[in-house]
Amino acid sequence: MDPSAYHMTPDEFRLNARLVIDWIADYLERVEEYPVLSQVAPGEIRAKLPDRPPVSGEPFDTILADIDDIVLPGITHWQSPNFFGYFPANSSGPAILGELLSAGLGIQGMLWATSPAATELETHLMDWLVEMLGLPERFLSTSAGGGVIQDSASSATLVAILAARERATGFESSHRGTDPDLVVYTSNQAHSSVEKAARIAGFGTDKLRLVEVDDTYAMDPEALEAAIAADLAAGLKPTAVVATVGTTSSTAIDPVRRIGEIARRHGMWLHVDAALAGTAALLPEMRWLNDGVDLADSYVFNPHKWMLTNFDCSAFFVADRSTLIRSLSVLPEYLRNEASESGKVFDYRDWQIPLGRRFRALKLWFVIRHYGTEGLQAVVREHLRLARAFASWVEADPDFELAAPVSVNLVCFRHVGGDDVNERILETLNRSGDLLMTHTKLDGHYTLRMSIGQTRTEERHVRRAWDLIKQAAG
Ligand SMILES: *Cc1c(COP(=O)(O)O)cnc(C)c1O
Repeated sequence: MDPSAYHMTPDEFRLNARLVIDWIADYLERVEEYPVLSQVAPGEIRAKLPDRPPVSGEPFDTILADIDDIVLPGITHWQSPNFFGYFPANSSGPAILGELLSAGLGIQGMLWATSPAATELETHLMDWLVEMLGLPERFLSTSAGGGVIQDSASSATLVAILAARERATGFESSHRGTDPDLVVYTSNQAHSSVEKAARIAGFGTDKLRLVEVDDTYAMDPEALEAAIAADLAAGLKPTAVVATVGTTSSTAIDPVRRIGEIARRHGMWLHVDAALAGTAALLPEMRWLNDGVDLADSYVFNPHKWMLTNFDCSAFFVADRSTLIRSLSVLPEYLRNEASESGKVFDYRDWQIPLGRRFRALKLWFVIRHYGTEGLQAVVREHLRLARAFASWVEADPDFELAAPVSVNLVCFRHVGGDDVNERILETLNRSGDLLMTHTKLDGHYTLRMSIGQTRTEERHVRRAWDLIKQAAG
């Protein structure tokens, strides 16, 4: 058969696209009814798939039907308003439609020249975010800095650590390999991506210092200072410190200003990881979260967690883009072009690990324009209110206690009956499918995490969750 006969015609595409859009709309309308945590056993989904790939193409409605029959049972419903696990991975109508358009355009945005709109829209949106979140002006593209969308905070932290390594060695590490004397610091509550970045960047985990925290689980700056002094005395080179604004375990807020002052004094790179909590700075009353960020060399937060923009969309800012670009730029002949040589454009391939890049700015643009700053603030403010309300119910109940300060939208709490009781509560709740929660360990104790930030979570969902938690406690 003529190859063109295999393609979906534009008319077929129109029809099928409507089916898919209707499917998504129905799904989101009904998402609350599904058991939040997928109840399948390992291997159950694979067992429903044919052993061999199809030789002849299949009709689209047959394919779509398998989303219901095969895929849905194996889905944990992150878009359910009863999803209180981990941190949210939000989406919203405008985000989904922006993502679809990005697939429809199907571009590769690696260079300005490979689709100027992708680069310029992204640069512009990153500048908008600086204003929306009250971030320092040195992160603006109109200063020496600038922002870029990464696939994840993990990638952003890796490129920050690489740039720190290059700056510390006069760009020698990329020629000779990582200097074995370089040391990275972060708190013992930092996200695992910091350790991963230190490993990949060649520091080695024995050159990663996990600094002690205080009783709010925030980094102790005196312990940081002491660790640096010990390393200097041993002839090592303190290179970078990663501070966290909103740790994954308990949303602890490191004292960024004090850490930044220490970093300045020792010529170290300060990277701030605000993956979840950064979004809260949309609210003027939460701008204290940014205290000290003006001392940071780089900063990351994830619109794909709490800013209603589906994964992946991680906003990464640097104060000095030339260091980042010099650290990551490799220029083969086949990518040379006039626009790049002119120095008038950003080529975002030089701001990230991979060459290729998706047009992620579209979905973020749609979200910001659909909601406006006002709409995004309203959603986030409500989540914060609900978290405080939930915390007050925990505090008022003699059977439960808070396990960490509630600084943002995460409530860490536990039943006073001990680890086994809390483990049983969590297992009962998640197996019921009524809601999803996850746990952490704080001070060695099993702790329940109630993360309130799903796009569609309302007060009734949080009230019901609290009732179910008390029931599960028996
Ligand atoms: C979620 C989280 C990350 C990882 O985010 P990815 O985008 O999935 O890499 C990093 N740091 C903190 C504090 C987080 O909460």
